[in-house]
Amino acid sequence: MEYWAGELGTNYIKGIKHDKVMDSVYNYLKYEEPKIKYKYNNLFLDNGAFSIFKNNYNRKKKKISIDIDKILDIQEKLYPEYTVPFDYPLEPSMTTKLMEKSWKRTLKNIDYWNECSSLDLVPALHAWNKKTLTLNLQQLFKKDFNYIALGSAFILKEKFKGFFGDRQPNKNIYEAFLFINSIAKEFGMKIHVFGLGSSPLSFHIAAYCEIFSTDSSGYRRKAAYGKIILPQTGERYAGNGTARFGVNWKKGLKFSDLFTQEEKQKIKECNCPECRKIIKNSYIRWKHLCSDWKFRAIHNKYVMEQEEKISKSLIQDGWDVYEKFIDKMMEKSNFRSLWNFIKEKKNIYF
Ligand SMILES: [Zn+2]
Repeated sequence: MEYWAGELGTNYIKGIKHDKVMDSVYNYLKYEEPKIKYKYNNLFLDNGAFSIFKNNYNRKKKKISIDIDKILDIQEKLYPEYTVPFDYPLEPSMTTKLMEKSWKRTLKNIDYWNECSSLDLVPALHAWNKKTLTLNLQQLFKKDFNYIALGSAFILKEKFKGFFGDRQPNKNIYEAFLFINSIAKEFGMKIHVFGLGSSPLSFHIAAYCEIFSTDSSGYRRKAAYGKIILPQTGERYAGNGTARFGVNWKKGLKFSDLFTQEEKQKIKECNCPECRKIIKNSYIRWKHLCSDWKFRAIHNKYVMEQEEKISKSLIQDGWDVYEKFIDKMMEKSNFRSLWNFIKEKKNIYF
């Protein structure tokens, strides 16, 4: 599974280098001449719809007017490798009629983007139950798309219970991913799911579901909240106790209590641009990561990019090999029951 590191427009960390980066039109709306200032190799540019509607649903916030030509204009100027035609995300409080109407508007935009631009498009799929999931996917297939994105998630029950934003691992959502992917595979279509790469665990579970690509700015968010990611595990604290980034710093939390021997070894052996500056001593490296959230972000991003490499290489060795690798990761994880559920369902759908 491809990992795209999330970035926030001009609010980037000085000196950061991206291989594959996911940014959003939303971060460039206020600029006459939008320009990417950080270094990168490949850009996937989201259309900003999700953030715009989230803002506009909030009564306290000033409404952002939607000008689709302006959005298309920003996309053309930034010239990404992939981008998403402006879509109309569904919201749980909508009636079925309104959801149908939103989907029709999304389809209209897809045609408009197709006619007016030469950009490589990854349209967003929306659906409100199992039936529309299949039908709407077929509509995109008929329009000749072979790479699509999943925005608001769906739950495989007759009654739609979508949600905004939150991407907590959840059995129904993963079952929906497996179901969609089983149809998409028949059509030879690839699927991008927004926001599944915030930790090694969630990344590998999604990769096991054969999702083609995902993205996340979790590396950054976690760093800001005083957390570091370690290979094949969850996150650990490495905060400096400053309030600004909301570090939940428990007094008396000691290095020796935070990490197992195995985890200390992972810090010692880390090859990220920050850890490499420091001698191979886990405690000194940890202190370094504690001292600045930006160091943690660079470390976290590196770890996620390595997980991507590990995942690809293990999948090449065979799905059974990859399954064993995830089994081991899950031994001490609270995702274990979700993982067992996914293994069982993958056998049914694939
Ligand atoms: Zn590191």
